[in-house]
Amino acid sequence: MKDHSASSRIFPLVAGLAVLIVGLIPALPAVARQLNDIEEVIIDYVDGNAERALDFLEATVNVNSGSLNFDGVRAVGRMYEEPFAALGFETSWVDGAAFGRAGHFVARRIRPGTPTVLLIGHLDTVFEPDSPFQTFEMVNDSVASGPGIADMKGGNVIILESARALDAAGVLDDISLIVVMTGDEERSGRPLDLARKALVDAAIESDIAIGFENGDGDPGTAVVARRSSSSWQLTVTGTPAHSSQVFTDRVGAGAIYEAARILTGFYEQLRHEENLTFNPGLILGGTDVEYDQSQARGSTFGKNNVVAEHATVSGDLRAISPAQIELAKSVMQQVVADHLPQTHAELTFSDGYPPLAPLDGNYKLLDQFSAVSEDLGFGPVAPVNPRNAGAADIAFVSGHVAMAMDGIGLGGADDHTVNETGHLWTLPMQTKRAAILLYRLSRDYPN
Ligand SMILES: [Zn+2]
Repeated sequence: MKDHSASSRIFPLVAGLAVLIVGLIPALPAVARQLNDIEEVIIDYVDGNAERALDFLEATVNVNSGSLNFDGVRAVGRMYEEPFAALGFETSWVDGAAFGRAGHFVARRIRPGTPTVLLIGHLDTVFEPDSPFQTFEMVNDSVASGPGIADMKGGNVIILESARALDAAGVLDDISLIVVMTGDEERSGRPLDLARKALVDAAIESDIAIGFENGDGDPGTAVVARRSSSSWQLTVTGTPAHSSQVFTDRVGAGAIYEAARILTGFYEQLRHEENLTFNPGLILGGTDVEYDQSQARGSTFGKNNVVAEHATVSGDLRAISPAQIELAKSVMQQVVADHLPQTHAELTFSDGYPPLAPLDGNYKLLDQFSAVSEDLGFGPVAPVNPRNAGAADIAFVSGHVAMAMDGIGLGGADDHTVNETGHLWTLPMQTKRAAILLYRLSRDYPN
């Protein structure tokens, strides 16, 4: 415990001295900054255009762009065409018919010999036109509510305003930028490899990728590792018979015992693996099982005196790296293969979002971002625990870029609910941090 009695006596003296010193040096800024002239221009530009940025955010929030409202998603994408074109970007729309979604907005501005940075946004929200939540509204003078305001229409605006700030400071030609705003992040089209082809192609061309998702809503954190998200399905069969014959050589254990053994095996063999989780979310077992995967529901019939013939289990799997996914899959398959007598089981995995593996380059990028934040007086930035970072589009760049980071968009709370809010004071703050990070990357990368 601290000795409060001593500090309470000394504190008024120290505070008095501090006031005296600050009063004697009026030119000293409130926060010690390590910023050059170009960075000061960036800051002034962002502050001078904060109101316009907020108006544009409001306008984009007020256009419904639920993932399945293709016209709305396209309309929000169109709002970015003219502003990016005015900065010298080539803009295009990647049609989404091949994967059953609206498509993606892409803007490119390549300057050979400069580092290429992929800036990732998404146009869609979880709020379809039938949602009661449709409009931007001020909650108080620094917080607004609105569908997708933080997730992630705010982040999209930060991407645009950062590029504008670099242009205003005369340094936009020192970097190559590829902006990809997907139209189906919240409900991605299938097949996934087609739905994410534009993003992966852009990543292959890029050195660095930055995602402007809202992260965990805390500007003191950024995401440098995200877990994968995929699903699995276990289908078990047994030998039906009167229950009096269970455990005999001919009848064996039945499907429900086998399903229980397999789940217990997963639990015992894999639950201590760090950053790995696997959760059975549904189980059906009995004589007859009907399971509708698309509706996540089913029905079953069975009697106490009949050995179960069928069991079905559906679950998810989240892992930190491709290697961990492979480890989990192989252990799970080994567990499945060790069948109880007279049963059979099959475990299948479906494709999902890959992980953003925690590579060294990601931590270097975070360190640079943290230094920018400290120089701006916004304090250091720490990594989010990957357990608390959901799957997102940034994961598709993993392995294609040397550095990746996400979660530096608009701060907010309660995304994916009708109470979603955006913390408006973070709009200029995040824009300054992003723009100055891009400027420093243009000078320092790859060092
Ligand atoms: Zn999002």
